[in-house]
Amino acid sequence: MTQPGLVIVGGSYAGLNAAVAARNAGYTAPLTLIGDEDRLPYQRPPLSKGFLRGDVDAGQLPLRPQAYFDTAGITMRMATRAASIDRVEKVVRLADGESLPYDKLVVATGCSPRMLAVQGADADGIHYLRTMDDALEIAARLDSITAVAVIGGGFIGLEIAASLKRMGKTVSLIEAQSRLLARALSPEMANYIADRHAREGVQLYFNAQIARYHAAAGHIAGVELAGGTVVPADMVIVGIGVVPNVALAAEAGIECGNGIIVDEYCRTSDPDIYAAGDCTWHPNPYAGGMARLECVQNATDQGKIAGANAAGANLVYDVPPWYWSDQYELKLQGAGLASGYDRAVVRGSMSDNTFSTFYFSKEKLLAVESVNRPGEHMLARKLLAARAQLSEDQAADTAYDLRQALIN
Ligand code: FAD
Ligand code: NDP
Repeated sequence: MTQPGLVIVGGSYAGLNAAVAARNAGYTAPLTLIGDEDRLPYQRPPLSKGFLRGDVDAGQLPLRPQAYFDTAGITMRMATRAASIDRVEKVVRLADGESLPYDKLVVATGCSPRMLAVQGADADGIHYLRTMDDALEIAARLDSITAVAVIGGGFIGLEIAASLKRMGKTVSLIEAQSRLLARALSPEMANYIADRHAREGVQLYFNAQIARYHAAAGHIAGVELAGGTVVPADMVIVGIGVVPNVALAAEAGIECGNGIIVDEYCRTSDPDIYAAGDCTWHPNPYAGGMARLECVQNATDQGKIAGANAAGANLVYDVPPWYWSDQYELKLQGAGLASGYDRAVVRGSMSDNTFSTFYFSKEKLLAVESVNRPGEHMLARKLLAARAQLSEDQAADTAYDLRQALIN
């Protein structure tokens, strides 16, 4: 058996950043990163954006080259699945039967797409998009496709709809709620985005339940909604949310809730096991309680904390959440968490596609959503991190220099 060291399960943002941070914190023992995809950690966001449109190729996506891992002494075990964790023996058992001993373990298993189980779901041409393999399969078929039905009006569905529209496809978007991004954004912001998609020619369906899929000769032909409307499609892409991959941790007896439960140090209920990224349910000061976040920022920053702490540091996770989304020429960037807001004020001009929406709760700034205002987004992150005092009037007044709130 190999010498114990740090083992990390999950080869994406959280796992990679944990490995890098452990080495940067001076960890010298063996360090192994296990990932079940057959490639080095890569950028996922382009999969629904430039990669899908063919503007970005696979060679541009790796987060670090193999040479980095060789130099840093990080053993990359890709195309390898961790089957179980034995916390008594302190080994990770791999699907092929091999056992890897650990001193410390980081679980960074991410999320998997929520599946839509309706009649006809076995038809050819129904896709989900989480991995590069998924994206390659969709891209390989697009030339022969004319009409795509996207199910789910979250970020993934909207980005796919925008990309496919730019490629000249007929696109329908089917959303269960009465508006887009109901959990994340204000109604004004959601309407603004919906309006943009409608103007680009995306056919939007709201309050829609999927009754069943229609197929012809085994291939998808349409999506039937409750009520009988049939949305014609020769490809369907489902983006109805994700579920955290907790089974590995849960089956080992690690406490889980809406994700693997960690404390502010990214430590699980087992002091030798850390967790990071999309799979965690963690205390987040910007959520005012426990949160599970699904964005690159959280995976990267938690990965860094988990890796450094597994290497002996004692760092606390306290970073304002932020994310971005590209749709058409709109660059959406969000900082903070808007849930629970009671007032939203707009700075700038929605009609000119350059504005930010500031969300407040009882005069406390919770979040800022920006469209084509990268400078304001960066400032928003600083304002949130500094817990700066900003009034609604100041936020809405473009003559007010937001940097003032950082020095007051
Ligand atoms: P994941 O990226 O889910 O990685 C977990 C890895 O662990 C996977 O490779 C998985 O296969 C592997 N794994 C799981 N179980 C095991 C096991 N037992 N053994 C071995 N390996 C295992 N976020 C943004 O902030 N901005 C964006 O613009 C954006 N765009 C996105 C576009 C797309 C198409 C997608 C799918 C996501 C996007 N996201 C975006 C979300 C972002 O990609 C995720 O938040 C991020 O990837 C989470 O990283 P993670 O490391 O926590 O988990
Ligand atoms: P989301 O949870 O953001 O959105 C899913 C949407 O689909 C919700 O509006 C949901 O409504 C709706 N929905 C759920 N069930 C159905 C149904 N049966 N029929 C129609 N609509 C339904 O997840 P996504 O799938 O959009 O994204 C997956 C992951 O990828 C997330 O982690 C996301 O953060 C990430 N991602 C992030 C991006 C970014 O930050 N730019 C870009 C792309 C992906 P309800 O609220 O009722 O569940």
